[in-house]
Amino acid sequence: MKTVHDFLANFAALFGKHMIYYKSKEEIELMRISAQLVSKCLGELATIVKPGITPLDLDKVAEEYIRDHDAVPGFLGLYDFPNSLCISVNEQVVHGIPTNKPLEDGDIISVDCGALKNGFYGDQAYTFPVGEVSQEIDQLLRVTKESLVLGIEQAKVGKRIGDVSFAIQQHAESHGYGVVRELVGHGLGRKMHESPEVPNYGKRGKGSLIKNGLVIAIEPMINLGTKRINQLNDGWTIITADRKPSAHYEHDVAIVDGKADVLTTFDYVEEALQAVAG
Ligand code: MG
Ligand code: MG
Repeated sequence: MKTVHDFLANFAALFGKHMIYYKSKEEIELMRISAQLVSKCLGELATIVKPGITPLDLDKVAEEYIRDHDAVPGFLGLYDFPNSLCISVNEQVVHGIPTNKPLEDGDIISVDCGALKNGFYGDQAYTFPVGEVSQEIDQLLRVTKESLVLGIEQAKVGKRIGDVSFAIQQHAESHGYGVVRELVGHGLGRKMHESPEVPNYGKRGKGSLIKNGLVIAIEPMINLGTKRINQLNDGWTIITADRKPSAHYEHDVAIVDGKADVLTTFDYVEEALQAVAG
């Protein structure tokens, strides 16, 4: 027979899992520091991504950069992940383990960077072209980034998570792309992955209400071909079922005074990429 204590424990276990931790403005300022750190780290990487460099080289640079800025890599050891960056090449969608295989001209790499500072996580991803990529891939990158922007436009008080999801899905699918279902964005804070889940597909007007203090990582994972995915035997790497390329962009978004306040930025990356391109 259940005691009141059992009942309360069950209630907490059931409910705690879906509990959204809304942040104060002070906490959001701390989160901005973590978010900007990962943005700057990705900006550093942007200066050295080119044919010949290896994902492990990038991982080493990122780990040093994060530790030099009094932070801890967010993914290293998280669920036993072995590295600081997730680096997913071409048909790899997310959760790629950095290897020593040199990147080649025409590849794309999705780099996901996390950092923990002042007790809060930053989490951001960017898909880099390596050298010259095909027009087809260039469009995939552009549309995935646009879908992130359209999702963020829906992130405001009065909307629901489903509005964000729908906007992303609509834009990606209007170009014939596959929207990954099994992996989603998430709440962010003292934990890397908090409630609510932020899918990249969904229905308008459904899901959690968006309120002030919500902080979410919005991260479309968009495939050139099928939405279906598989996992490699390493227990981590997610690949597209048809082996066509996949793109991934991610921002950390806080809701402040009713509106989206994007805590991360692509400015560092894009300034670096433009400088490299000359
Ligand atoms: Mg991420
Ligand atoms: Mg994330």
